[in-house]
Amino acid sequence: MDFIQRLIDIVKCFWRRILRSIMGSRGNHSNKSRELAARNEHPVEAFGWAASGETGLLSPFKFSRRAPGEKDVMFKVFYCGVCHCDLHSIKNDWTGTKYPIVPGHEIVGIVTKVGSKVEKFKVGDQVGVGCMVGSCHSCDNCTNDLENYCPKVILTYNSTYYDETPTYGGYSNIMVVDEKFAIRWPENLPLDSGAPLLCAGITTYSALKYFGLDKPGMHVGVVGLGGLGHVAVKFAKAFGVKVTVISTTPGKKNDAIESLRADAFLFSRDKEQMRAAMQTLDGIIDTSAGVHSLGPLIGLLKSHGVLVVVGLPNKPLELPVLPLISGRKVVAGTAIGSVKETQEMIDFAATNNITADVEVVSMEYVNAAMKRLAKGDVKFRFVIDVANTLKAL
Ligand SMILES: [Zn+2]
Ligand SMILES: [Zn+2]
Repeated sequence: MDFIQRLIDIVKCFWRRILRSIMGSRGNHSNKSRELAARNEHPVEAFGWAASGETGLLSPFKFSRRAPGEKDVMFKVFYCGVCHCDLHSIKNDWTGTKYPIVPGHEIVGIVTKVGSKVEKFKVGDQVGVGCMVGSCHSCDNCTNDLENYCPKVILTYNSTYYDETPTYGGYSNIMVVDEKFAIRWPENLPLDSGAPLLCAGITTYSALKYFGLDKPGMHVGVVGLGGLGHVAVKFAKAFGVKVTVISTTPGKKNDAIESLRADAFLFSRDKEQMRAAMQTLDGIIDTSAGVHSLGPLIGLLKSHGVLVVVGLPNKPLELPVLPLISGRKVVAGTAIGSVKETQEMIDFAATNNITADVEVVSMEYVNAAMKRLAKGDVKFRFVIDVANTLKAL
């Protein structure tokens, strides 16, 4: 039997290689024509760093952007956060990556040009762009300020814009965006440490608000202390919520308690600690992108508690039913937030002095940053100093 299984594996592997080489050459061809089309169709020359294949290695890349239309703002990119989404996308972890890809959806900068009908911005204003740059404007989601759930949502990178050209993200010198999808940036909110709020911030803020986990005196668990987790703790504390950080890394206890002022820390691999904490939480924000069982986490919830998944593992998670039905508990998911809610979150962050803890790096360092991010070796978000370190091509 072993021998037959081995034989099957060898044949499978062989076919996979052949398929990959066929797809790879087709991919390269269409990449080149896509790149040429984008250059020909748009008059604004732009440059940034792109990945051209599944190694995810980023390198300098020239492309073009559209001339600002009457509702568009053009801005010089100052900083761009390095989100876990960027890492997954450049490596095609979620499949569907179209190369070349210029990642980056935590983008802040200064407006350099506005279209004739722009109302929210003027030249010189600070501006932010998160994960979306367009949507259908007519579906139920779009008409109810839920364009983040529009089936035709256009993402900031690795999407196709209304004019059929690819969207490119913020690892680049300039952006052109419909003002509807641009966020007014408060004067007192730092551009560098504020940038990660545009994905990590809105994801966790929206999860806490929508599921009613923002009431003072509640007790909320935050699973994972990375880019998302650490801002989840900050928002929850600002709402007056008691926070327990739940992590597979005991070394994160100090960061959780001392730096982020969480109220308690649970090492999730310690069965005793987990047992002692059963049925103590009103809700949990699960930011972990690793494959893990939801059972032990559901066990921590009180009756009617909600476990909100915001990480995006690339495989299904185990969901045992017994702890779920024992207490009418809910497992839910949420993704980023609408433009309206993102603006509300940014204004709340500015009022409450909430920013991400960041390590500002140069554009040249981005591949090293990706490697460190893959190992969780960052406290807690890399932000690229685009304006000062992206060299012109
Ligand atoms: Zn992101
Ligand atoms: Zn829509």
